[in-house]
Amino acid sequence: MSPSRCVTAVLAALAALVLAGAPGAQAAPRRAAVQTISYDASRAAELTSLVDQAAEVWNTRVTNVRLVKGTAGVSVSTAQSGPAPGMSSCVGCTRGQITLYRNQIKQSGAGTLRVIVHEFGHILGLNHPQDIGNCDKVMAGGRCENPYPNADERAAVDRFWGRPRPQARPAPRPADENRTLRAPALVSR
Ligand SMILES: [Zn+2]
Repeated sequence: MSPSRCVTAVLAALAALVLAGAPGAQAAPRRAAVQTISYDASRAAELTSLVDQAAEVWNTRVTNVRLVKGTAGVSVSTAQSGPAPGMSSCVGCTRGQITLYRNQIKQSGAGTLRVIVHEFGHILGLNHPQDIGNCDKVMAGGRCENPYPNADERAAVDRFWGRPRPQARPAPRPADENRTLRAPALVSR
């Protein structure tokens, strides 16, 4: 091999090494596995299928966490009357309770699916925003029908569960939950 061909061969070998190494060097840090939260809707009575729909609303819109049917985890039940249309026992947690109160949902004027998506939103790590009654946000409560979280809410859930160790937070207080879910809808136009 002539000296120049030798140099060319060495350069080619180096280039191949650099190219082979590049994707590894630039790859994002390894992601944690998707967090799974099981929920049990067997005590949700007539709202069982809406509970499944609410889980599906989140599952089709976030990627770092998934709600799956199961017997441990978050138990969802209904009761006739309580302190607010719905309550969740913690924020950002894999074990807890959601309770849905029929009379208060009816009185609130909010869509039932929206209320359930809201309660799952707490389980998934979301608190109430400032603009209570904004129908674009499921966490803003209000007399609204829209059951779909907006882009900010979806991103916040993915951020929360994308952390190495998501920390559970205390549940919203019943009075705050009631005020939020029964607030008038904000008029944006
Ligand atoms: Zn709430």
